[in-house]
Amino acid sequence: MRSTAKHLRRYYNPDVGNALRMDTNTNVLGSNPAAEKFIRSCKIDANDYPNTYSDRLRDELASLYGLERENFVVGSGSDEVLDIAFKTFTEWNDGTIVPVPSYSLYDYFANVNGGDAYAVDLTDDFQLDVDAMLKPKAKMIIMPSPNNPTGNLFKSKDVEEILERSKGPVIVDEAYGEYAGTSMIPKVNEFDNLIVMRTFSKAYAMAGLRVGYSISNKNIADMMNCVKIPYSLNTISEGAAIAAVKDQDFIKRSVDLVNRNRGSLANGLKKLGFEPYPSDANFILMISPIDHSVFTDGLKEKGVLIRDFGSKRRTENCVRTTIGSEELNNILLKKAEEVISENSKK
Ligand SMILES: *Cc1c(COP(=O)(O)O)cnc(C)c1O
Repeated sequence: MRSTAKHLRRYYNPDVGNALRMDTNTNVLGSNPAAEKFIRSCKIDANDYPNTYSDRLRDELASLYGLERENFVVGSGSDEVLDIAFKTFTEWNDGTIVPVPSYSLYDYFANVNGGDAYAVDLTDDFQLDVDAMLKPKAKMIIMPSPNNPTGNLFKSKDVEEILERSKGPVIVDEAYGEYAGTSMIPKVNEFDNLIVMRTFSKAYAMAGLRVGYSISNKNIADMMNCVKIPYSLNTISEGAAIAAVKDQDFIKRSVDLVNRNRGSLANGLKKLGFEPYPSDANFILMISPIDHSVFTDGLKEKGVLIRDFGSKRRTENCVRTTIGSEELNNILLKKAEEVISENSKK
């Protein structure tokens, strides 16, 4: 096995059964209706290759954002597009700066491409420590905003300062951008080193179809398209994504639902003794009043999955839940109350 891959371990792969999934931050309204309709009625020729660079989807995205086809790189999930960025811009042994806490797969992409992830701590309120982020000599900087698992947006003046002071590419992963109401996308032509990542896996409710994309200036996008594996997005997923982009009403309803329920879920959790952090996304990170793994295992036994971050540095004893509909949140709160009372008597 390649030396840089030897220490890798498999990714999160829970035994799901019939559990209620509040662990993956997908859309609680369920599968994207326009994508479903497309899949049910499409007549594709399975014998034909898809378009090499998903040109039709890139055109649809260009009209959504008022940009051009050549600003986009489309792949099989934003995870593929993240991998493309590492393959395009980093050499063997290059470092990439990754804030802590943030998305665990960034370390994996750095390592699998023969480089290193340089961990730089966020401040106590989970904001960027700009000087610290710029200190290590690194080829690239990557950050999710809103951040996963903390849920907060980074201040745009900090992100812009990093873009100005950094020579290499700066990736802003906006997997939850639809919920945040603010984005770096309008600035892709202003900065020569900005790469924004977006996905169809969260607000678009299409995680199973694996579609993601980057937005950047045309120069960066062209380099990345040359590195990308041709045809990586299949014909059905491309067509479904095009249909989904045309139905912005579904996205608006999805975002409205989260905004409506975020406050009441946080309050309900506080009443049970949790300490929730502020969220600009469709999930909440919180400190658990009882042991994190006792809590998540207890919930799982009652049929609700959430994500445990409690043994990681900077999120000690924390768990993360997706924000559900009113009904789902009430189930979560009820089961959480049961788990806490069963485990505090002992
Ligand atoms: C969910 C998520 C992604 C999405 O990955 P896909 O490959 O598009 O499903 C990317 N980045 C972050 C921070 C995420 O939370």
